[in-house]
Amino acid sequence: MQTGKHFLQIPGPTNVPDSVLRAISNPTIDHRGPEFSEMTSDLLEGVKKVVKGNKSIPIIFPSSGTGAWESALVNILSDNDKILMYDTGHFSTLWKNMAEKLGFEVIYIESEWRTGVDSDKFIEILKNDQKHEIKAVCMVHNETSTGVTSKIPSVINEIKSINHPAIIMVDTISSLGSIDYYHDDWNVDVTVAGSQKGLMLPPGIAFNFISQNALDISIKNDYKRSYWDWSEMVKTNLNGFFPYTPSTNILFGLKEALRLIEEEGLDNIFKRHERHAKATRAAVNGWGIELLPMNDDEHSNSLTSLLFKENVNADNLRKIILDKFNTSLGTGLGKWAGKIIRIGHLGDFNDPMLLGTLSAVEMGLSLAEIEHKSGGILEAMNYLEKN
Ligand code: PLP
Repeated sequence: MQTGKHFLQIPGPTNVPDSVLRAISNPTIDHRGPEFSEMTSDLLEGVKKVVKGNKSIPIIFPSSGTGAWESALVNILSDNDKILMYDTGHFSTLWKNMAEKLGFEVIYIESEWRTGVDSDKFIEILKNDQKHEIKAVCMVHNETSTGVTSKIPSVINEIKSINHPAIIMVDTISSLGSIDYYHDDWNVDVTVAGSQKGLMLPPGIAFNFISQNALDISIKNDYKRSYWDWSEMVKTNLNGFFPYTPSTNILFGLKEALRLIEEEGLDNIFKRHERHAKATRAAVNGWGIELLPMNDDEHSNSLTSLLFKENVNADNLRKIILDKFNTSLGTGLGKWAGKIIRIGHLGDFNDPMLLGTLSAVEMGLSLAEIEHKSGGILEAMNYLEKN
């Protein structure tokens, strides 16, 4: 038996604040009644602020993030349309696999899963696409499987500078509410997001934020779809309702989460995430363990991935840390399975929670007899004290 609070330090789902849990536990109300309709209208306005997408049209699905990926694809693309995607890791690969299953042709730029989107490679392909057969460019802002954040604004700027009309889709599932993001100013057409990470909610709702251009394209698009169709949603949302039963209680939680975000202030939230990410990297460097991301300017502020030497079983380390210290860390996914651990430091989080997590990791490293320098955690403490 484990006592005390469980440390849920995977990179999402994240810890849900008590006040959000309390909001979710309110009695379910009539989703076709006036109280619900008023709440929906407020929520739709509120969520736009989190993606800095005042001009965007927000759509909330009772689904996980994967559903929001599918919705983005099926509303914009038609059979055999071409999509350009970049292989940043496990999640970009899952999105690519989905696009292929749906009948779209994906041009996928492979990488070693340690770096972000390389815009030069995109531009080379887009420049050669004289007939504009590539209808969409899809990117993952923060690749949760690696802890690499891509420089989305500069990639989009370069795409725009060659006047390629492809629709820009960005997955912000593990950056929303943790890492600065500007749906409007960056000229994103479709932002894909989920509830269970920076928004501090349980899994269960997911979002598309769409530009007017994206909505117009979807209205003309004849690709077969029903549940994921934006038009029905936008039409019913106008009166504060949904075309089917929404996740009423998670929406109560969203209301409270938006209140908390407003109270702390988005810019403060981003600074807090950056500070915790820097402190975590200080500890990892102190331990003498390699960070998975290769470029210093692409480190994620929502999670940190530690890459171990060939002979280390990273899952055994995670098991020891869970069994001994009641702390869950993220497993390696896809080609990094068994080779890395991922420390989540996003969502509702503070310094003692980070230091508790890092001490569990440091003690785990010793117990698993993994070569490291002890006392790395002092580097994190030192960083937090001084910053
Ligand atoms: N995209 C990213 C970046 C993710 O981190 C995840 C899940 O962790 C997904 C997509 C898939 O979302 P879900 O598991 O909610 O379907």
